[in-house]
Amino acid sequence: MSTERRPPRPHHLYVHVPFCRLVCAYCDFVTVGGRAAEIPRYVDALLAELALRPVVGQLRTIYFGGGTPSLLPTQSIGRLIDAAASAWGGRPVESTVEANPGTRERPDWAGLRAAGVTRLSLGIQSLADVQLRALARGHTAAEALDAYRAARAAGFDNVSIDLIYGIPGQSLDDWRTTLRAAIGLAPDHLSLYGLQLVLAPDEWAAPPRPGALRWRRRMAARQDEDLAAAQYGTAEELLDRAGYRHYELSSWAVPGRESLHNAAYWSRAPYTGIGAGAHSYDGNTRSWNERDLDRYLEAVENGTLPLGGRESADEPTRAFEAMALGLRTVAGVERAAFHAEFGIDPVGRWGTELDAAERQGLLAIDDVAVRLTPRGRLLANEVLAELLPAAR
Ligand code: SF4
Repeated sequence: MSTERRPPRPHHLYVHVPFCRLVCAYCDFVTVGGRAAEIPRYVDALLAELALRPVVGQLRTIYFGGGTPSLLPTQSIGRLIDAAASAWGGRPVESTVEANPGTRERPDWAGLRAAGVTRLSLGIQSLADVQLRALARGHTAAEALDAYRAARAAGFDNVSIDLIYGIPGQSLDDWRTTLRAAIGLAPDHLSLYGLQLVLAPDEWAAPPRPGALRWRRRMAARQDEDLAAAQYGTAEELLDRAGYRHYELSSWAVPGRESLHNAAYWSRAPYTGIGAGAHSYDGNTRSWNERDLDRYLEAVENGTLPLGGRESADEPTRAFEAMALGLRTVAGVERAAFHAEFGIDPVGRWGTELDAAERQGLLAIDDVAVRLTPRGRLLANEVLAELLPAAR
């Protein structure tokens, strides 16, 4: 028997912070508005949940998402990073916090740096006030620019910004203007999201809030799919010209600045999620926490894991997930790795479906990988729908 010790398995931690100053009508995340007074109690619950979780590997990345994690005091973020590092061994190589640029949600940037945060994800969404108003965002374009510059001045050398396209009333020229202004800021990373207004009736989506459904229907009626596709194509063109690498459906980065945490999701690496509604994956089973904030707090304060549900993936589901997540990446699904895991090449498994998508110009298949083409990226959901276990 070999006495050689294996290095600890890298592990990734997601920390969900559901608090928001205002809850946006288009948001599907687990969020609560107007309960900021409960943040200290929630931080204690996060630390308690972390202590209840088994140590399953060495901490590689930590990501504070929400909600609005920048509402947390920076000392609390520091306590959580320190607790995770000491429980799981080793400092994370990437610690990201999502932050909103509005003056009332903005964190103390220097304090965040001192707390051990290495990467920021700024929810700028648009650099045009008219679009920010259409989305009922609580900040202006000037505030977004100001927040970005303040974060840089505090020493953050890894900053990602989020932008939204497909906003009703946003022309191709408007989008180009926002993109050019964003490129002018020289962020390390950009995540671009098409405004998603159709409610997905699954466990990932929050139930519609009062008034939100009407707002979504009204806005959805004004959306133009062809225009959104043109906006996506424009982004690919402008960002490519500016030196950004398109590495995932919604993500562009200066080479070397890709998100390590998100890359773990796309490669189906195990991760633990703590906080209300957070999801975890151990390589086989997906589980999720209680979404309701009160029930989450109650469970943890009673010393129990706040589990909302779990699901063990059977082989067809795992194979589908490998395709669905792999195709999100521009590198695609590596055929040899897929074969090694499932005992069959993806082209052997989905011959008819992949062949049809290739003939329609949606997929490119070579000896190494199966990838979406630029046109296929626009129709990724349609390509994947054909591969669903239930569709076969
Ligand atoms: S979009 Fe962001 S700020 Fe708005 S409710 Fe959702 S998480 Fe909160």
